[in-house]
Amino acid sequence: GHNNLNAKLVLLGDMGAGKSSLVLRFVKGQFLEFQESTIGAAFFSQTLAVNDATVKFEIWDTAGQERYHSLAPMYYRGAAAAIIVYDITSAESFARAKKWVQELQKQGNPNMVMALAGNKADLEERRCVPAEDARAYAEENGLFFVETSAKTAQNVNEIFYEIAKKLPRA
Ligand code: GDP
Ligand code: MG
Repeated sequence: GHNNLNAKLVLLGDMGAGKSSLVLRFVKGQFLEFQESTIGAAFFSQTLAVNDATVKFEIWDTAGQERYHSLAPMYYRGAAAAIIVYDITSAESFARAKKWVQELQKQGNPNMVMALAGNKADLEERRCVPAEDARAYAEENGLFFVETSAKTAQNVNEIFYEIAKKLPRA
């Protein structure tokens, strides 16, 4: 029906930030302590009901390593939404997330809904990236920001739900 929407969504971010774990949590409700690293990219789909509409997410979970960087445009081109993931225990992963945001601002779909996920929020005692820094950065750049944990499920459904609500309706 006219209330059904398909939305291509891409996850970008440093290797090890937890992209695959967030997808596994969202799609299957599971978490693996030893999640295998992604080769190239992996595809998943999941449907969410939002108000009177149904959003079918077509999710591309990318690898994140620098050697796969040249493949990234294949996944973010034409994407309606992106989740840029960093690990709150890694300043380097936050710097890398900012690079992805810059690249999407230059090369991505201008109407793309972008969310910044500070993942591994369960590891508070090892935190390196203050939530306030990320929130300020997200505000400056028009991103939706939330801290997540694929391990505890904190804010995982919520981030996809918020994105679904922000998608332009036909
Ligand atoms: P990716 O390379 O971005 O896809 O990262 P993975 O999903 O493969 O996760 C890398 C490692 O971090 C794995 O060992 C996961 O179990 C772990 N991990 C992912 N998300 C979380 C989280 O929210 N909390 C904790 N404590 N560990 C996580
Ligand atoms: Mg992965």
